[in-house]
Amino acid sequence: MSSDPIRIAIVGAGPGGLTLARLLHVAGIRTSLFERESSATERAQGGTLDLHTESGQLALARAGLTDGFLRIARYEDQGSRLYTCDGRLLLADDDMTGDRPEVDRTALRDLLLQSLPLDAIAWARCLREVAPRNDGRYDLVFDGAREGPFDLVIGADGAWSRVRPLVSRYQPQYSGLTFVEFGIDEVDTRHPALSELVGRGKMGAESAGRSLMVLRNGNAHLRGYAIFRVPVEWAERRFDVTSPSAMRHALLGEFAGWADALLDLLRASSDQFALRPIHALPVGHHWTNRPGITLLGDAAHLMSPFGGEGVNAAMLDAVELAAHLVGSKDWREAVRAYETAMFVRVAQPAGEAAEAAATELSHISQELTLAHHQAYMQMRAAAGDSTAR
Ligand SMILES: Cc1cc2nc3c(=O)[nH]c(=O)nc-3n(C[C@H](O)[C@H](O)[C@H](O)COP(=O)(O)OP(=O)(O)OC[C@H]3O[C@@H](n4cnc5c(N)ncnc54)[C@H](O)[C@@H]3O)c2cc1C
Repeated sequence: MSSDPIRIAIVGAGPGGLTLARLLHVAGIRTSLFERESSATERAQGGTLDLHTESGQLALARAGLTDGFLRIARYEDQGSRLYTCDGRLLLADDDMTGDRPEVDRTALRDLLLQSLPLDAIAWARCLREVAPRNDGRYDLVFDGAREGPFDLVIGADGAWSRVRPLVSRYQPQYSGLTFVEFGIDEVDTRHPALSELVGRGKMGAESAGRSLMVLRNGNAHLRGYAIFRVPVEWAERRFDVTSPSAMRHALLGEFAGWADALLDLLRASSDQFALRPIHALPVGHHWTNRPGITLLGDAAHLMSPFGGEGVNAAMLDAVELAAHLVGSKDWREAVRAYETAMFVRVAQPAGEAAEAAATELSHISQELTLAHHQAYMQMRAAAGDSTAR
């Protein structure tokens, strides 16, 4: 990078923004990172993620955090099970030799946070607007505060990015799918039958326009999703997340007729529920380069979670943007090069995630899931994994 230091702002301390801040910190480049949450502990960060070798794991390696990653990686939770709605097991893959271990989001965030100086993040800064200045730079407008000027503003602020409107007029569109999230605590000791049902990894079951997907998280916690293909406002009308007993009752009603062993997942759920309508940006989303503004992660290419690529793509964006910024004498050209390559790179996973969302809960969903699993095992076998079954 040129000897003339530029002022860089990163908006959003999710996996993408934090990885970028860490990579630039390692390279000796200062950034200002702004996050709307009030502290690292304001909110549990959500469920489990599998980090891929060529993206999420690569990012942590470049960030010098492989040892920390190995401490939080759950290689033992890579299994997969598929049931029919009457409880018959269709697929049981209990192979733990894969290279896509699970990590809990909170553990990943903590790992990245601890790798940064204590004052690296300005918490409780909810961006309202990026204000262009007359000198070609930008100010960031928060509730009750203004920060700047910045030469380069990087929007890592997720699906509903406040930075994105400066370069793109697109907004995420509803995919037709809504997830109702639930959780089960202390599953191994309090609900051993459910622990056995889910196994070491994830399980799914689907029938007639609805499905259950449950994933094992760390600390004997299960996170589940009841998935529906419905209009976007349907779940808000149907479910009252403020009443756990009403939630359980309504969910059991939606899955009436399913095997008791599967319904026990809903009966055992804790009192924490959330509605998550799934949105995505158009496949191939891109913008004309605007000096001083760029995006990474969900802000740039929000996709449905079915491909399991979102966090991996966000962390690879960070790797590539950091590499361009560190390796170039012209930061404007570095950002342009990052964007050009990123638009091409994410088009395929975004397309696959969109197709997976489009075909989820179709009349051949189970067939597609089995075929997908078979293709994954073949890919692993082709990659020389002698343990693939
Ligand atoms: C139900 C569900 C399951 C998923 N499962 C997987 C999975 O298994 N594997 C996978 O790879 N991906 C999964 N994803 C996708 C994954 O969560 C995202 O792709 C990933 O978190 C993107 O990281 P990010 O850093 O770009 O954005 P985010 O994780 O959204 O982080 C954005 C950050 O910006 C902050 N922020 C937002 N607005 C502002 C503002 N105005 N001012 C300041 N700060 C702001 C937020 O508080 C947050 O900290 C899933 C998504 C969902 C909804």
